[in-house]
Amino acid sequence: NAGAMANFNLHICRDGLTATDFRDNKIKELSVGNRDAFHTADLGNILQKHLCWKRNLPHVTPFYAMKCNNSLPILSMLADLGTSFDCASPAEIQSILSLDVHPSRIIYANPCKQESHIRYACNNGVQMMTFDCEEELVKIVDNHKNAKLVLRISVDDSKAALRLSSKFGTPLWQWPRLLERAKELCLEVIGISFHVGSGCSDPKAFSQAISDAHKAFTMGVELGFNMTLLDIGGGFPGSENTAVKFEDFAAEINLALDTYFPAQGKVKIIAEPGRYYVASSYTLALNIIGKKAVMKNHNDGNKGIMYYVNDGIHGSFNMDDPVNSNIQPYLHKKSRSDHHPYPSAIWGPTCDSFDLLVKHLFLPEMEVGDWLLVDNMGAYTCVMGSNFNGFRRADTYFVMSQDARCEADGVCKLLIGAPSFKAFQRPPAWPHRRNTQSRTHLKHIVCILC
Ligand SMILES: *Cc1c(COP(=O)(O)O)cnc(C)c1O
Repeated sequence: NAGAMANFNLHICRDGLTATDFRDNKIKELSVGNRDAFHTADLGNILQKHLCWKRNLPHVTPFYAMKCNNSLPILSMLADLGTSFDCASPAEIQSILSLDVHPSRIIYANPCKQESHIRYACNNGVQMMTFDCEEELVKIVDNHKNAKLVLRISVDDSKAALRLSSKFGTPLWQWPRLLERAKELCLEVIGISFHVGSGCSDPKAFSQAISDAHKAFTMGVELGFNMTLLDIGGGFPGSENTAVKFEDFAAEINLALDTYFPAQGKVKIIAEPGRYYVASSYTLALNIIGKKAVMKNHNDGNKGIMYYVNDGIHGSFNMDDPVNSNIQPYLHKKSRSDHHPYPSAIWGPTCDSFDLLVKHLFLPEMEVGDWLLVDNMGAYTCVMGSNFNGFRRADTYFVMSQDARCEADGVCKLLIGAPSFKAFQRPPAWPHRRNTQSRTHLKHIVCILC
């Protein structure tokens, strides 16, 4: 479909290139142009994450938490690969439904919802939703009587970079009362969910939470609910440089599931990974737009250098996310690597004095116009940006190698029985969709084909 391709700004490149080759070419091209910052998103990397999930957690169905990156090429690819979705608002639900995903593949996992939003879910066939208090049950009775409810329990999130249990989740002492209230209101509770917190560093947090969930499950069964779902939430690592690997989390989770929810049971296990799927797929290329030497006085030997780059905390770097706040930029130009290293600070482009990316890092001396790269930029980055001070957010180029594309084709045929991977052959509906809450703007899909 040539029209659709034009709409997605689909570039077709030479055979055999990878996302890295693409990025290097783009840098070359922009070096004689505007030198704007840009992301390359390697869709092949996301495919590998999906396969890794299937290998390590074969009994856990992923519901991708789209809040961490709602780019349409990514959602579309994951939809084709057969994942389901965790949505938190009508706009998110609408994005997923517009990809022809059946509403049964959506969990509305925001425990505290506006009433009109509950009606929206009801009118659009989304039945699964979480709750964590009595008020929520009352709203659901009034607006979506046939909802399939999942009780969000609070668990120990002390091992997470971003804790969630202070805002969401019911403490143990309230579980019986809340489940009884659901029964009185003739609502259907089908399962239990939790979230160990984003950027969790300890696999034991999951086994403890699974054991807690088992207690809540038993209470539900005793009250006569047909308990069929366990939702182990998100929190899985997504960067390549984390101390504890995804595989270690998976091993711990599998052990706990064997103990508390043995495979022969009728319980469906799902999870809501966000960061896991997308963090490592993005690399940001930043350009140095300014440089200042800082010395106490003019013959001070202790020179430091301040650099100014063209993306910052109001763009791709949301500094509220502690997982992303340990930013490790590195030089694109290897030839600079043997330059003398100086203590360096890196500032974003806006006039906000908080717009600081790196306070202190030894870096070889660089020049205005040089490029820096930052890896693992796919989660909670672009989605959080604004146009503060009039700076436009970095473009994203979606790249997929021919090999990855063939592999995706195979996965679609093998795992979900679809005729082929069709992510890039959708009708040109997306860019025109009204989706006011989505901050996704102009994107490019680059598909490297032979
Ligand atoms: C944010 C969120 C997720 C995703 O968390 P990650 O740490 O990115 O995996 C999953 N479920 C819920 C309910 C969330 O709020």
